[in-house]
Amino acid sequence: MSRTFAIIKPDAVERSLAGRIISRIESEGLRIVALKRIYMTRKQAEGFYAEHRERPFFGSLTDYMCSGPCYVAVLEGDNAQPRWREIMGATNPADADKGTIRKELAVDPEKNSVHGSDSEDSASREISYFFADIEIA
Ligand code: UDP
Ligand code: MG
Repeated sequence: MSRTFAIIKPDAVERSLAGRIISRIESEGLRIVALKRIYMTRKQAEGFYAEHRERPFFGSLTDYMCSGPCYVAVLEGDNAQPRWREIMGATNPADADKGTIRKELAVDPEKNSVHGSDSEDSASREISYFFADIEIA
């Protein structure tokens, strides 16, 4: 059993796709052990994506992430981290495999509907960025 961190991003929440994404997570055998709706501040978005601070898309990405509410979640299951990345699909929906969430739902390479940690270390950092231990059950 391992855990990963997920976000249902503002573009998906705005289009009322959160329920569908949660349903997909559950049907893939991953368990949602923490979930909350938040409206990220710019500071929170910048801290969360600090690794991308030098990238040209950083300003636009952080604007977008605080443009509306999102859902943050902790997922648990066998190989949760790589498994959730596989279900999400590639960053750019044009490159994502058929049947992945990003291929089916994403708007463009930025408004790509979901986030998933890219390694076990990122998962630990990202989970503790948004959740206290007592919120995970
Ligand atoms: N992003 C973007 N343009 C790019 C690359 C990434 O707008 O050329 C956004 C997109 O929302 C992506 C996020 O920045 O999900 C983080 O980028 P990363 O490379 O970490 O992709 P991910 O891990 O989300 O697949
Ligand atoms: Mg990433």
